[in-house]
This record gives sequence, structure tokens and C-alpha cells, in this order.
Amino acid sequence: MSQDDCIFCQIVDGEIPSRTVFEDDVSMAFLDANPLAPGHTLVIPKRHHETLDDVPEDTAAHLFGVLHRLTPAVEHAVDADGSNVAFNNGEAAGQEVPHVHAHVIPRFHDDGGNPIHAVAGRRPDLSEEELDEIAADIESGH
Ligand code: 5GP
Ligand code: ZN
Repeated sequence: MSQDDCIFCQIVDGEIPSRTVFEDDVSMAFLDANPLAPGHTLVIPKRHHETLDDVPEDTAAHLFGVLHRLTPAVEHAVDADGSNVAFNNGEAAGQEVPHVHAHVIPRFHDDGGNPIHAVAGRRPDLSEEELDEIAADIESGH
């Protein structure tokens, strides 16, 4: 299920070199080529899926298990004070490589960065009714 024109499929297939830090049958993790911090790591499913919605549930659970084990190792390797673990899920959210991947970005008390709250655009001003409606739609939609 690899896609010829996908950079991350080419990394999985060994056609593009990577600094791989973890690999099993389902997933792979390697250092980001343009790191936002030392230790910036990407975790991917080996099969080509574009966004989180496309990932089968067992693969998603597997990826979370890998993130759970790998994140402390990443932090420890670079002596980080914390980390942001996040997906740019879809083009509108800033996803540039259309092969789903989690970023593990080590954080340091003095790194000048921002919390994940800083990634979105204008904040909405939602009424209690609108919040109720959104919550109900999410609850009934999965
Ligand atoms: P996105 O914006 O899609 O969430 O992030 C894609 C990430 O992939 C970026 O942080 C970028 O630096 C990284 N990246 C792009 N091409 C390559 C590559 O060929 N090798 C590695 N290791 N990382 C890459
Ligand atoms: Zn791919």
C-alpha cells in the first residue's frame, strides 16, 4: 500500500535515508529532517494513510502505544523538560506530507516556544447553546 510519490512511503521502503529510532511491522519513527527542537521525531504507520480518519482503529491504537513508549525516550535523549505530541491532521491544519504522522517535539523551559493553544486562528465566541449543539453533534457522530 505504498504510494510512489510519497516521501514517507519512500522512507519506509528505504529509498530515502532516515535516522530511524524505532521500527516494527506496523510503524516507524525517525528524526524530522528540519527539526523544531533537538530530538524532534515523527511517528508514522508504515502503510500509506493520509489523515487520522483513514487509519484503522487497531493501527491507531498501536501508534498511540508507540508514542507512549517513545516520547519519554525522546525527552530523555535530549534532556527535555517536556514535549508537544501532535498531528497536523489535514491540509487546513498545516499537514504538508500527506502520510499521517505524529510529531514529538521536545520542549525546554527557556525555548521561547508556545503551547498548542497558539496553533489555531481567531478564537470563536460561542454561546452556551452553540457549545451544547457542538457537543451533541460530536457525541452522536462517532
Ligand atoms: P507536516 O507539516 O506534514 O505535519 O510535517 C512534515 C514534516 O516532515 C516536517 O516537519 C518536515 O521537516 C518533515 N520532513 C519532510 N520531508 C522529510 C524527509 O525527507 N525526511 C525527514 N526525516 N523528514 C521530512
Ligand atoms: Zn505514504
